[in-house]
Amino acid sequence: MKKIEDIINLMIRRGFVFQSYEIYSGLKGFYDFGHLGVLLKNNIKNLWLKFILKEDNIFLLETPIITKSEVFKASGHLENFYDLLVECKSCHNRFRYDVYLKGDYGKVKKNNEKFFCPLCNGELTEPKKFNLMFKTYVGPTEESSTQAFLRPETAQGIFVNFDNYTKIYRTKLPFGIAQIGKAFRNEITPKNFIFRIKEFEQMELEYFIDPNDKIDWLSYWLDKSMNWYINILGFKKDNLIIYEQPQKELAHYSKKTLDVYYKFPFGEDEIQGIANRGDYDLNSHLKFSGKDLRYFNDKTKQKVIPYVIEPSWGVERILLALICDAYDEDEINNEKRIVLRLSPNVAPIKIAVFPLLSNKEGLINKAKEVFDHLKEYYLEIIYDENGSIGKRYRRQDEIGTPFCLTIDFQSLEDNTFTIRNRDTLQQERVHFNELLNYFKEKIKKF
Ligand code: ATP
Repeated sequence: MKKIEDIINLMIRRGFVFQSYEIYSGLKGFYDFGHLGVLLKNNIKNLWLKFILKEDNIFLLETPIITKSEVFKASGHLENFYDLLVECKSCHNRFRYDVYLKGDYGKVKKNNEKFFCPLCNGELTEPKKFNLMFKTYVGPTEESSTQAFLRPETAQGIFVNFDNYTKIYRTKLPFGIAQIGKAFRNEITPKNFIFRIKEFEQMELEYFIDPNDKIDWLSYWLDKSMNWYINILGFKKDNLIIYEQPQKELAHYSKKTLDVYYKFPFGEDEIQGIANRGDYDLNSHLKFSGKDLRYFNDKTKQKVIPYVIEPSWGVERILLALICDAYDEDEINNEKRIVLRLSPNVAPIKIAVFPLLSNKEGLINKAKEVFDHLKEYYLEIIYDENGSIGKRYRRQDEIGTPFCLTIDFQSLEDNTFTIRNRDTLQQERVHFNELLNYFKEKIKKF
């Protein structure tokens, strides 16, 4: 059984993730991503962009994080984007009411319609609505007319640009607008490391379709997403689950939502949602802005408000799921080894280059020559001459580097090098002239 503590420990120890503002005792729900974390995040985002752009009629967009209040008034977020919060009258700890009722904070204690604190048994307050959006002000005065919000999803930036795409890019249904960007939610109880955080990145696609279109686009995007997880990111199929949200759990804008869950060591939970938002958003923006956001179908000569299918992926949750999926422990020569079996597609470092010994100038010079050569083609590459070869292998195994290339004395004679495979532990000898072909074959981009 994998333990989340071991995985978190590895991610911190190897510099994927740090607690934000750690030297000032941290800030709950915020994390920094170190070099390896950033490389891994970028791989996820780049592989997502490729996956999305391979589809027909997908366009990109980037919009501000700070969003005018009017947008969230129209979208319903000001009124409906809340969690119910209960507070303990004695210890003043706060809990999300729905999570409390599920028993996730501990046993639910109830007596005479009153609920009690899972921590100190004190009485809990009645549930209160708590809006999850962070508020700010644009300009020097703090008044309601200058109030703005940090977006809790990137989607609204897309809806308010709908008209630009049909007019300027002359888009025809069905088409999609995709955005990668930060989103913010003032979660009541951030938890499970980077799973539930207050500042995170979303990769969202708003896919606009004709309301009379009979194609099941929700299933279409679910199938495409599953294929991306399994065949491109390298997830184990059995660790992914599809969950249909029951009616009472649906967000205020959704007609139907399918979630992709990952079997985390702390329990199954959502990494992606795919919602049928119907015409909810365009309709609301049409009403509130007074702009005609209808789409003219030149075949039927009718104006329609398109429906929207929204697959929404969370970068940090996918990153955490990937590391949980790849985490493994085995034994080499009676010693425990921790290894991240990440697909070469996503691995933050693809190749590590070592001179066999760190005190032989000839080996070091050759190793640097090979490193510089490969770096022309692979930026995700590392040079390491510290410690024994065994220790260097272990360090690379822990960060998921699929290939370690060692320069030994034979290399100085015949220009060949050993390449050790992280998973099979097999070593092959490859000539300098063959290196690029070798890695091109093994590190396939799609
Ligand atoms: P949850 O029920 O876990 O709060 P949600 O259903 O509200 O999530 P969506 O609004 O569907 O989430 O957001 C789409 C995606 O954004 C999620 O599938 C998740 O990957 C990511 N996401 C949402 N909230 C967070 C968060 N607080 N921290 C990290 N990622 C998040």
